[in-house]
Amino acid sequence: MESIAEKKSYQVNDRGYYGTFGGAFIPEMLYPNVEELRENYLQVINDPSFQKEYSDLLRDYVGRPTPLYRANRLSEKYKTNIFLKREDLCHTGAHKVNNTIGQILMAQRLGKKRIVAETGAGQHGVATATVCALMNLECTVYMGEIDIERQAPNVARMKMLGAEVRPATSGSRTLKDATNEAMRHWINNPVDTHYIIGSVVGPHPYPDMVARFQSVISEEIRAQLNAHTGKQTPNYVIACVGGGSNAAGSFYHFLDDEDVKLVAVEAAGLGLTSGHSAATTALGKPGVLHGSRTILMQTEDGQVTEPFSISAGLDYPGIGPQHAWLYASGRGTFLSATDDEAVQAAFELTRLEGIIPALESSHALAVLGRLGASENETVVLTLSGRGDKDMGTYMKYID
Ligand SMILES: *Cc1c(COP(=O)(O)O)cnc(C)c1O
Repeated sequence: MESIAEKKSYQVNDRGYYGTFGGAFIPEMLYPNVEELRENYLQVINDPSFQKEYSDLLRDYVGRPTPLYRANRLSEKYKTNIFLKREDLCHTGAHKVNNTIGQILMAQRLGKKRIVAETGAGQHGVATATVCALMNLECTVYMGEIDIERQAPNVARMKMLGAEVRPATSGSRTLKDATNEAMRHWINNPVDTHYIIGSVVGPHPYPDMVARFQSVISEEIRAQLNAHTGKQTPNYVIACVGGGSNAAGSFYHFLDDEDVKLVAVEAAGLGLTSGHSAATTALGKPGVLHGSRTILMQTEDGQVTEPFSISAGLDYPGIGPQHAWLYASGRGTFLSATDDEAVQAAFELTRLEGIIPALESSHALAVLGRLGASENETVVLTLSGRGDKDMGTYMKYID
């Protein structure tokens, strides 16, 4: 009996909470949309025809299973056994498409004809525009006016894929303003539109739904690790955390294996005390962000503070509610890496293994030397994305 209670304790409960975090703090106008999703999402996901279509697309379109690669030279350097889960080899170059494929199928099952999304750096916008092209659904992506200027290649990708990119011109003209505009759009088009959120954030049921779609990562890790080592569980699972979706997917099937250490790595930016950071658990406090109670970076009087990281995907002032609970309950270990440490780790992986990682993933790589993992232990690190998109940044470090 006790083990059943424990099993459930890191997953969402039927009221939408992980411990004291989660819930659905939404304007009344959004209630019908979120409620429709909440009432239907589990039934849709568990439907065999959904499962088949989802897994067929993951195999044939995304390219799953992604390899679990034993990084020999990296292992030698850190004197332990390091396996890389290669989400960088997914179609579009990162894990985000696991979620957008799941959500577009969900939208179709709910009879929706249009998709709305918001994007910061444009990566979630591209993953969303990709699946909208695939399924021939109309796609509107809100993006801050400033971000549109900063992220021209991703804007071009979204447009080429057929999406309409609408600038958010209010406030700081960045991600949070794009989120507000996307919410407003959804409120105004409740019947035929589905809102695709890009991480394990937002009101219940989004964090749980997105975690389920990303959980394929840890499902594959268990089987692949068993094939490599004869054991399904490693000693450590490491992933970077922006909102937390690649980490949530990497942790999902290990949550109840308490001997597996779950290590989440946040972006420290220029340093924890520099005032330019995105290390949410180190600097934040509980509060409500984007529809859920979680941990977020805020001022004394509760205003959300502007995050900073060299990597666009980690530049977020909060974390998903499940991660807030993993942190508060002690189940997860939360570390951070600075911009410089991440860039250094990216070059190290590139030179040792011939793999250029995304800047986001490089934050996870940066803590390898701090784990204290021994020669007999096994470390699985999720490489969330490839580094092509970050070459502009990396080039500044090449002389
Ligand atoms: C978006 C992104 C992230 C951060 O998002 P999570 O939801 O925390 O996974 C990490 N890595 C890459 C490559 C990304 O594109």
